[in-house]
Amino acid sequence: MLLGEVCTRACRFCAVPTGNPGGIVDREEPVRLAEAIAELRLSSVVLTSVDRDDLTDGGASIFAAAIRETKRRLPPVKIEALIPDFSGNDSVLQTLIASNPDVIGHNIETVRRLSLGLRDPRAGYDQSLHVLERVREISPQTITKSSIMLGLGEEREEVLQTMRDLRSVGVRALTLGQYLPPSHAAAPLVATFIQMNSRNSRTKRGSLGSASSCPARWCAAPTTPHRRFPHAQADHRSSSGRSRPRPGAR
Ligand code: SF4
Repeated sequence: MLLGEVCTRACRFCAVPTGNPGGIVDREEPVRLAEAIAELRLSSVVLTSVDRDDLTDGGASIFAAAIRETKRRLPPVKIEALIPDFSGNDSVLQTLIASNPDVIGHNIETVRRLSLGLRDPRAGYDQSLHVLERVREISPQTITKSSIMLGLGEEREEVLQTMRDLRSVGVRALTLGQYLPPSHAAAPLVATFIQMNSRNSRTKRGSLGSASSCPARWCAAPTTPHRRFPHAQADHRSSSGRSRPRPGAR
């Protein structure tokens, strides 16, 4: 994760500390990142960053420099840039795209109905769609990717609508991830996952026109340390249809 450990935003499902980094950036980070990738002998990487609303370019210049430096030193390495929305700033987005990552991901995170309450107010469902659409328009050859967390109270049809919305702006790769609250203060887990049997999934994949030949087969989902949820058995809800909130959960 680039651009520090403090995010200027405060999404309710995220454990990254919120604050104001005060415009401080590490100009050497792109070089050190490329060195680390070389040392680890990685063949593909996912680069992401915190949101840096304190910077006029949202950190895009550092993000892009990291991609360029990695490609310069290690041309075979495949790079997915999992980017923030850069506040929808088109010229900033172009700076990032010009660094030519193999995949550009931007997570829509959740369904439209839940976005306002769960994501930072400066983010938004439509803004995320706009960012993904602009990437496709500016660089049609770049694979665009997004991700939806499941378990925050979304309905199955809402998830399918979100998939349609992503498809309508040209998104070619999608990950569905199980939400696990990263702390007691985070948004509570509502359900462990939405049942989508394989037959329906196949049908929906077909109707959504998914790109099954997409070459980007690696996954951007970060690993969350396993936490115990004794009240949330896989594939089961409580009798009320909702998992019992844990003490301290909002
Ligand atoms: S913008 Fe990203 S890193 Fe920042 S709080 Fe939201 S999810 Fe976490």
